[in-house]
Amino acid sequence: MNIILLGAPGAGKGTQASKIAAKYNLLHISTGDIFRANIKNGTEIGKLAKSYIDAGKLVPDEVTCKIVEDRLTWDDAKNGYMLDGFPRNLFQAKELDKFAKVDLCLNINVDEGLLMDRICGRRVCACGESYHITTLNGATTCAKCGGELYQRADDNPETVKSRLDTYNTQTAPLIDYYQKQGKLATVTSGEGSPDEVFAQIVKILK
Ligand code: ADP
Ligand code: ZN
Repeated sequence: MNIILLGAPGAGKGTQASKIAAKYNLLHISTGDIFRANIKNGTEIGKLAKSYIDAGKLVPDEVTCKIVEDRLTWDDAKNGYMLDGFPRNLFQAKELDKFAKVDLCLNINVDEGLLMDRICGRRVCACGESYHITTLNGATTCAKCGGELYQRADDNPETVKSRLDTYNTQTAPLIDYYQKQGKLATVTSGEGSPDEVFAQIVKILK
């Protein structure tokens, strides 16, 4: 099964993706993680992506689509995957339909007023786990792997404003796109705890 995770920045896509990956043995592909790894390794793609990411804008479609198309040809994607952060606009969705078969689009809906605080309080680990300062109780390392937690460079109020705007204008129309294809399933109360939201997702996937 191939799933798309849709939702605003801070909606909990990454958190739910790691839970879904563990229970259903689906590969988690995050375009944001791919870009951050490229930035860390100083690749050409990383250099190009950084300016867009820092501004809260989308990395150009040609670059992003090519990365995803390539990634889906790897052997580990054969048994199904979750796309987290792709597609992010209609052009990408239409491109995806040319090189992949989408079974389901899981749309995680969260009250917009909560997103800024969720993102600015987020601490992440290089292994892909993320946490919120309110539940860390002062911990500075990852409960899963022991790695040092840090704050993403784009998790600051200024950039978040721009990311939310990008989401509303470019990504939100995808809800309609997948609804029309009969592939949309909405997680209505994404405001709940990670476990509560995951319970809703499990129900949908049954
Ligand atoms: P979030 O969902 O919290 O905003 P991501 O890690 O998914 O964070 O993405 C971080 C940034 O990476 C985005 O703001 C954007 O600049 C870039 N990016 C990720 N996915 C895409 C995509 N599909 N198309 C264009 N840019 C992308
Ligand atoms: Zn970790």
